[in-house]
Parts: sequence; C-alpha cells; structure tokens
Amino acid sequence: MNLTDPRFQDAEKAREWLEAQRWPDGPYCTHCGSYSVTQLQGRAHRPGVYQCNDCREQFTVTTGSVMERSRIPLNKWLLAMHLMASSKKGYSAHQLHRTLGITYQSAWFLAHRIREAMGNDQSGPLGGEGKIVEADETYFGDKDRVTKRTKRGKSGLASKRAVVSLVERGGRAKTFHVERATKESVREVIVRNVSRKSKLHTDESRLYIDTGKEFAGHESVRHTAGEYVRYEDGHVVHTNTVEGFFSVFKRGMKGVYQHCSEAHLHRYLAEFDFRYNNRSGLGVEDTERAAKIIAQAGGKRLTYRRTDEAQDA
Ligand SMILES: [Zn+2]
Repeated sequence: MNLTDPRFQDAEKAREWLEAQRWPDGPYCTHCGSYSVTQLQGRAHRPGVYQCNDCREQFTVTTGSVMERSRIPLNKWLLAMHLMASSKKGYSAHQLHRTLGITYQSAWFLAHRIREAMGNDQSGPLGGEGKIVEADETYFGDKDRVTKRTKRGKSGLASKRAVVSLVERGGRAKTFHVERATKESVREVIVRNVSRKSKLHTDESRLYIDTGKEFAGHESVRHTAGEYVRYEDGHVVHTNTVEGFFSVFKRGMKGVYQHCSEAHLHRYLAEFDFRYNNRSGLGVEDTERAAKIIAQAGGKRLTYRRTDEAQDA
C-alpha cells in the first residue's frame, strides 16, 4: 500500500476512487435504487452530487454511509481506514489527530465511525456441524461510575467490566460487553451468535453448564485443576484460542487506547473482532482489509449524543 497514492492525498481523487468502488456499474440512487440519475454540474453544486430522475432526491457517494455529512475530507477518511485496518493493535485518536492534521475531536469521531463500519458485519452465526466454538468471559477495566443509572443511591461501582467472547476455532470471533456475566446474560450472547449444531468448548465455569446442553456437544477444561488441554474423541478440548484473543485485545487496549469509557467499549470490541476476523492467517491482507471497511461503511450512519458519552475514549 502506497500512502502517497492520490486517493490519500486529494479529496477529489478520493471521491472518484470511492465512486468506482461503491458503484462499479455506475452511480445509482441511494434513496430508491434507480440507475436513472444525473450528475449536477456547475458552480452551484459541489462536485459529486447526483440527482435521481425517478424520486428526484439528491445524493453523493457517501449518502447513507458512516462518512455522510462529515467535514473531514474523503482522502483523510480513506487514510484513517487504511491505518486502522493495518495496525495490529489499533490506532488511537491521538495518532490520527497528528497523522491526519485534524483536531483531536474530529479524529475521535472519525475513529468511532470507522469502528461502526468494522462492526457492521452481516455474516451469520459462528460454528455449525462439526465445528468447535470456544466461549469465555473476561473482566477488563473498572466500570464507569453510573450514578444516573443506579437506583438505590449506589455510586462508584467497584466491579469490573465483563466481556464475553465467542471464537470459532480456525474462524471468526464475536465479542460482547455484558452488564454482568451471569448464566442468563452469557446464554443470551451464545444462543444468538452460535449455531446449535456446534460443539462448545469452555472452562469449568458454572456459567456455561446449562447453555452447553443446548448445543451438539459441550466439553470443558478444568483450569482450577491445572488442566488446559484434554484429548477427547479425536479432538482437542481447550479454550486457548479465545484466551489468545483476549490477550491481544487487552494488550491493544492498554498499549494504544489506554482509557475507554464503558459506553464505547462495544465499539472497541467490534474493532478487535474485525481485525481478528480479517487476519493474515485467513488470507486477508492490509489492502483487502481496508476495502472491507469501505464495503461495510455504506448504509449506516450514526450520530453521537455528546452530552451522554465521554469524548475522550
Ligand atoms: Zn431515487
């Protein structure tokens, strides 16, 4: 990847490149899907504005995407996507702020929108017949003070943030922040995201015993008894894959992001899932990974309520 490529340097070149990516068969209306469109010319319009001849709505290549209505030039969006796709442990808003020459606040919003695109993964549940899915929970960082949400006057919760991860062996990962890791919350995450035909591998935690019965099989290793790997019926029972995922996540969070507010934790989890699910080991390299972010960036745009959510995460 050549960072001096015109699409990383020039907003117009970036728009043309993005149009070619998003509309390989020519522009179509993002409101009604019609291919009967006219590009608006002349000084009254900024470049790249189209009007639909059917529904008469106007649109650009970023309409309906995470890039919509952003004041950040498109070449900087593409560069940020590339940097976040190719950095193993993530790329902080501070780094983006310096590298792209935009304000820290802009960099922060940019990074979160790119994470939204990363999390916009429409692939189905993990596992399936003959597949093994490892499930495990971990605790990461202190919970934020949630004075607003506490009912009985409690404040300053001392407990940790709970994260549940599901990793298909040799495949993808899906990771979730849960308010508390209980049998119920863990079950919810597992049954929504793992095919019942899969075999579940966990540690001996009681959280998984009942849920395990809903799957084709459930094996557990007894970590408290010093057991980390067991051979059973021709396959290896362990949770090393999901634990490896957690260790990459924790190192990234500590080394790159340092502080992350709980309200945004799920977006960071989506980012680490994305990089894991599009890793070199599965044959996905930097350029393709960045292209996938762009593909997933369409059709989703979020706004952030600045009053409720910390901006420094
Ligand atoms: Zn239309």
